[in-house]
Amino acid sequence: TEFVTVSELASMMNVSPTQVISACMSLGIFASINQRLDAETIQIVAEEFGFETEFVSADVQEAIPEVEDKEEDLIDRPPIITVMGHVDHGKTSLLDKIRNANVTAGEAGGITQHIGAYSVTLKDNRKMTFLDTPGHEAFTAMRARGAQVTDVAIIIVAADDDVMPQTKEAISHAQAANVPMVFAINKIDKPGANPDKIREQLSAMNILVEEWGGKYQCQEISAKQNLNIDDLLDKVLLEAEILHLRANPNKNAVGTVIESSLDKGKGYVTNMLVHAGTMKIGDIVLVGRNYGRVRAMHDEHGVALKEAGPSQPVSVLGINGAPSAGDTFHIMDDEREAKTIATKREQLYREQGLRTNKHITLDEIGRRL
Ligand code: GDP
Ligand code: MG
Repeated sequence: TEFVTVSELASMMNVSPTQVISACMSLGIFASINQRLDAETIQIVAEEFGFETEFVSADVQEAIPEVEDKEEDLIDRPPIITVMGHVDHGKTSLLDKIRNANVTAGEAGGITQHIGAYSVTLKDNRKMTFLDTPGHEAFTAMRARGAQVTDVAIIIVAADDDVMPQTKEAISHAQAANVPMVFAINKIDKPGANPDKIREQLSAMNILVEEWGGKYQCQEISAKQNLNIDDLLDKVLLEAEILHLRANPNKNAVGTVIESSLDKGKGYVTNMLVHAGTMKIGDIVLVGRNYGRVRAMHDEHGVALKEAGPSQPVSVLGINGAPSAGDTFHIMDDEREAKTIATKREQLYREQGLRTNKHITLDEIGRRL
């Protein structure tokens, strides 16, 4: 089992990630900042900094036994897509265009709500889910919590600019997460646009696009003028098909928090993405240090839902607090048990906060997804 990342361990001990990295190195382990460490490594590294380690395994494993899905239960699920790229290269414009171009008649009346993700159904009925919190901050925040939410990343680069530092970061995040990338060269309507320059700069980073004989799909687009966006989505879907994304809808839901907030009128609003299973009204949710019964669910059009299946984003009312983006949620059969585990996690969390007694407690619950 792997537990926390290098940077999480560093912050628990109040030292810099570099210090942890070099401690790992002296053990012959070359760890990057976001790498998860195994128990033995954590113990030895922590000892070097004068910490004693205690591994606490809350009873979530027994509470939510992981059952292997039966082949006949698995159905195709829509891919989950993240758009990443440098500021002003067109992430928001692209996400808006995709959303607006694929609103079906029934949904058109509803007011678009921001719930951190949205799903679209293309004309040929294929579905996709887009994370609506663009930028790699969200991506890394979730990854740091062990959540792998993205199936395919669109890396957007403005053709009138260059491959910029944030573009490079986005690429390295996707690569580190082993998430396939499709490149969108945007703003080709602009007089100064030079898509070949972008291809060249990518190739200098060892990223060869298909039209140059490489393996990366690439599409020239204009998010502003709505040019070639369908072609881009086709390429993304092609990339997703290779992954054979499937999930079992016939079990308790499991998934990830995208964002959460406190609404004066409604209480805590938790926007989540279901990975597998089906979430229903009345379900008991255990999520991070919180829990609650699903009182109401809404989609991104404000439409009330009775259930939500794999890859579906959903806004949930009824959780007793605001969990963090990237937290895993599980549906529990027993409310008392959910409360017990949530309370235990809260305790662990507080103890982690008290770094004074040179003691760190590592919690493996919630890190299973
Ligand atoms: P973000 O920071 O990556 O979310 O970028 P935005 O979507 O906010 O776009 C930044 C600016 O570029 C805005 O003024 C957009 O109108 C403009 N923009 C985005 N896409 C295009 C495009 O395809 N062509 C042109 N000409 N402008 C674009
Ligand atoms: Mg933006």
